[in-house]
Amino acid sequence: MATVTLDALRKEFDSGRLVAVDDVSLEVADGEFVTVVGPSGCGKSTTLRMIAGLEQPTSGRIRIGGEDVTDLHARRRDVAMVFQNYALYPHKTVRQNMAFGLRMSTDLGSDARNRKVDETAAMMDIEELLDDQPDELSGGQKQRVALGRAIVREPDVFLFDEPLSNLDAKLRTSMRTEIQRLQDELGTTAIYVTHDQEEAMTMGDRLAIMNDGVLRQTGTPTDVYTTPNSEFVGGFVGSPSMNLLDVAVESAADGVRLVNEDRFEYRLTGERGERVAAADVATARLGIRPENVRVTGDREGIETGVEVVEPVGSDNYLYLDLGPEFIARVASDVEPETGDIIRVTFNETDIHLFDAASGDALLATDAGEPTVTATASP
Ligand code: ATP
Repeated sequence: MATVTLDALRKEFDSGRLVAVDDVSLEVADGEFVTVVGPSGCGKSTTLRMIAGLEQPTSGRIRIGGEDVTDLHARRRDVAMVFQNYALYPHKTVRQNMAFGLRMSTDLGSDARNRKVDETAAMMDIEELLDDQPDELSGGQKQRVALGRAIVREPDVFLFDEPLSNLDAKLRTSMRTEIQRLQDELGTTAIYVTHDQEEAMTMGDRLAIMNDGVLRQTGTPTDVYTTPNSEFVGGFVGSPSMNLLDVAVESAADGVRLVNEDRFEYRLTGERGERVAAADVATARLGIRPENVRVTGDREGIETGVEVVEPVGSDNYLYLDLGPEFIARVASDVEPETGDIIRVTFNETDIHLFDAASGDALLATDAGEPTVTATASP
């Protein structure tokens, strides 16, 4: 078991024309499970491959268990990687696939290797597959073998590169739980790459969220959900996505007013108002999560038209004409018709506010009293 430290890691391709990973620093604690998540092309696989020793960083250092491994060959790093495409040797049996890594990385004799393979196969419930060839296995079985092959080596660190992407939705969900259970039981430090924010939110102790090669935010799933540090993180985490609207920021005697054209305005007072006033911006992006948009039954609130009602079983998603793709997530018994005019409201404490230019968060979502004031609708 070991800590993993990335120190100002950078990776350029095409003679520096493409910066895939830009100054990424991250500390993964011993036994921690960190998911690295971000959209396609954000540099997450390249980061993982540098930790594995499959890519050489352009600059920066990588330490595993305190040892600087930056210049160490992949084979000499005590890490085991699990790939999306399983990467099993096609002409070896499951047993030979699992034992191969042990042969390369330990000086165990064949009896000891076989014993370890048997133990791990029992743990993974794949004992009956040990004599099969990979092409006789289903996708789910192949992935169990690939996991077993990583586990049998008892590495310091597990590296997972989108290991569940090729599996169907149901299998993916059960394998998520199983990977977490195994990692927890073994206590092995794990870094798990995925583009799927939902997977990242349900799996890791901590998320490391990347975009454009840059590490945007690290934190627990709750941290990044409730206190995104930027418009990117706010919009990336959560499904359906956070609603975002342009607002003018106007100073007021007791703080600031956030004005969305002539549809609504919010007053931010006290410390939150002071913080936004200090940022001295004329415009901002207001973020509100779909579950924080409440339909009011009375005359209070913001008037809006219902464009689409999408039932998803437990809830209804109401697409509202407050903005492009503006969604209220409401209980399934709230059932307006398309074209209805309804009134909605949200608490001031649920509002996120981002700098229109930099995307940086201007507010943290701490406690406070709701102070919505609707203005006349157009
Ligand atoms: P995905 O989920 O699509 O794999 P990712 O976040 O893992 O995306 P990377 O695979 O790390 O992203 O790629 C980051 C950037 O680096 C991309 O623009 C990619 O095209 C580029 N890239 C990756 N490997 C190479 C390479 N060997 N040569 C040139 N460019 C590369």
